[in-house]
Amino acid sequence: MSRFFSQKYSTLVPYTPGEQPKDMKYIKLNTNESPYLPSKGVFDAVKSEAERLHLYSDPECSVLTKKIADLYGVDKSEVLVTNGSDEVLNFAFMAFCDSDRGIAFPDITYGFYSVFAKINNVKYREIPLKDDFTIDVNDYIGINENIVIANPNAPTGIYLSLEEIEKIAKSNPENVVIIDEAYIDFGGQSAVGLTKKYDNLLVTMTFSKSRSMAGGRIGFGIGNKALINDLNTIKYSTNPYNVNRLSQIAGAVAIDDNKYYMDNCKEIIKTREYTVAELKKIGFDILESKANFIFAKHDKIQGEHLYKRLKENGVLVRHFTKDKIKDYNRITIGTREQMDILIKKVISILEEIK
Ligand code: PMP
Repeated sequence: MSRFFSQKYSTLVPYTPGEQPKDMKYIKLNTNESPYLPSKGVFDAVKSEAERLHLYSDPECSVLTKKIADLYGVDKSEVLVTNGSDEVLNFAFMAFCDSDRGIAFPDITYGFYSVFAKINNVKYREIPLKDDFTIDVNDYIGINENIVIANPNAPTGIYLSLEEIEKIAKSNPENVVIIDEAYIDFGGQSAVGLTKKYDNLLVTMTFSKSRSMAGGRIGFGIGNKALINDLNTIKYSTNPYNVNRLSQIAGAVAIDDNKYYMDNCKEIIKTREYTVAELKKIGFDILESKANFIFAKHDKIQGEHLYKRLKENGVLVRHFTKDKIKDYNRITIGTREQMDILIKKVISILEEIK
């Protein structure tokens, strides 16, 4: 820390992104990216848009916003496009939370929530998941705090039904309920429809997973116009050109090519079910996932050891050191071929410890 670093950030522990090592070519199953390339239209559009890079991007993201609004059946005033969904989440913490108006979220969830809380000086409360890693909805009924829930949750992959989400939104009318749907396209049902009924509900999504564009950094929030207005106030007070030109066009074309991406999601779901079945055959316990990853543990091998041996064998998965989940590894679902390699490597690592 330099002697210039603001005192207010001196205890901040930043979020640790999944590793992106350059030392060798890994099968990357650690950051929940899509194994499939963006659609051909996206490549072509980005190439021709490069000619206009000397001009600022559209601060309103008009074309992309309209396409997202049409796809999800909402008005464009109910959508905000951001630089990845991390940005819309951070904007929401900035806009709706502070040291009095706190936010609650599960103790096992996306690690960035507590970082957003700390950097924005927001009071937060972590609510323990049940022993089976599911959310007890009663813990969120009428709690009079803002709430953020990843659905499906990360890193567990466990999905909460729309009925449960609705109960939470309904019982906290004076607070914002944020549903982070980064992984919703892998088998869950989006809560976007409920935003018409509940003006306190904000749904966030991303192009990083189901739309093969983690490197394009496109996220968005959908909610009541007044909530989106507030988020815009934050956006225009920080970075009006938050989504660059290439990403805006890439996102717009990706919506045109929606079928391609949704077909890929179906394939990933199939591969997930295959991988779960194969890993269960060799003794893994796996939480029921509706995401593009699974959370798996094995009685005979420590989570960290498996992670390390897989890495030495050229396969990257994600291990978390938090006590409650240290037995597990989060494994992104790649192509069938990648998962077959993973399974083979796991089998031989298990052989080593016999
Ligand atoms: N929410 C969850 C639950 C995530 O796992 C991620 C990805 N790390 C994000 C949001 C943010 O993704 P992005 O900024 O790439 O849209």
